[in-house]
Amino acid sequence: MSAWEEPGPAPPPSNPNASAIMRRTGRKDTRPELALRRELHRRGLRYLVDATPPGTNRRRRADLVFRGARVAVFVDGCFWHSCPVHVHRPKANAGWWRVKLASITARDRDTDAVLAAAGWCVVRVWEHERPVAAADRVHGLVHARRGRHRRP
Ligand SMILES: [Zn+2]
Repeated sequence: MSAWEEPGPAPPPSNPNASAIMRRTGRKDTRPELALRRELHRRGLRYLVDATPPGTNRRRRADLVFRGARVAVFVDGCFWHSCPVHVHRPKANAGWWRVKLASITARDRDTDAVLAAAGWCVVRVWEHERPVAAADRVHGLVHARRGRHRRP
């Protein structure tokens, strides 16, 4: 059971463009994520991909998991996660989309809270961010936290 409203089954796509957006739902290994991974790997950082950070009783997968530093990274698509810069509300099936996108945001915030409560530092990267800038952020956090959270 979740604390937010679920949108129900998807309505039929209103046009070919909407179909293309829907097809991208949940797709793994998106281009922004691959670019970030490549940049972090180049810097010598190692991480798990699409993994559940250990220590919570709920299965929430993160895009990148740095176990030693307890840093979980999510690369959030601008559309699906309602990026404030590229906010876009579909006009067709507007009511369904409003609930759908709000439920994704609510789940994101819940995931942040679940992981924070288990001692994880959550980093959210927008797909529009430059990979080098995002890598700087992640790299800095992982470096700062690595010493404090050595695994036995
Ligand atoms: Zn954006």
